[in-house]
Amino acid sequence: MDLQLDLLDNSHDFLNNALFYYNKANLDDGHEEGQADLETKLFWKTGFILLVQSLELILKETLRRTSDVFVYENIDAPFSSDSKTISFQKSVQRLLNLKINFISTEQKDFILNCAEIRNQFIHYKVKYNSVDIKKKFCKLVEMYSIIHKKATKEKIKIWKDNEYYYKDCLKKAKDFYVFRGLEFNKKELEIFKKEISDMQEFNYCYDKKGNYFERIKYGDKRDFLYMDFKYCPHCAAKLSEYHLKMCSHEACSKCGKQLIFCGCAKGMVHIDLEVNDDDI
Ligand SMILES: [Zn+2]
Ligand SMILES: [Zn+2]
Repeated sequence: MDLQLDLLDNSHDFLNNALFYYNKANLDDGHEEGQADLETKLFWKTGFILLVQSLELILKETLRRTSDVFVYENIDAPFSSDSKTISFQKSVQRLLNLKINFISTEQKDFILNCAEIRNQFIHYKVKYNSVDIKKKFCKLVEMYSIIHKKATKEKIKIWKDNEYYYKDCLKKAKDFYVFRGLEFNKKELEIFKKEISDMQEFNYCYDKKGNYFERIKYGDKRDFLYMDFKYCPHCAAKLSEYHLKMCSHEACSKCGKQLIFCGCAKGMVHIDLEVNDDDI
């Protein structure tokens, strides 16, 4: 089978492949040790390289649509089949010079920063953070869609299986937070923080006979489920904090098993442990 892709098709193809890896990298949506798998996070690297490549091609297509010669390094030299095409870095600057208000200086800096990360991924020793790279990825997809719209007025050919991930990137480019390694939008994060703070009030459990027994905090010396992770892998409680409701990692102080399965607790209450002078 012979395949022929023009610049735009090729750019779409790289974008779709980048989204394919975005999906793979998101199979674990945690970002802290204990929440995520290292191999899954490695997919960010390939996904990011493909995404930057797709952006490079859409920028070149934009130049080409202005004039065929603009995709070449030296626009004044006589054209031949081995004329050198413009580098990514130069194409960004050329676009900025040629097309007023097409991209901002801030966007240019961001694109060049992403191009630099891409180069590091390919050529050098690599160090990256999964939260930073996801934020950049989503922002870059958003930028791609804006540039594409301005340049072509055509629809981006997104594979059917990728439509969800494409929309997800556009959504997260605007509203994405990571707290204790977990992902939220702004509203979800507010609810989560309130839930954590509300749960700290419940310091005791009671059994069906009405007897009280202490709750065990994350990382307490009696917490046999503690695995030396900064946050509880299930509910993201931090050290010396009570778990969220129904967390499978909370230990039971009455029987020493997992609280959600042992059946000791009928409910949770707040017991004021402060001793007033009047009580003595
Ligand atoms: Zn927990
Ligand atoms: Zn128990």
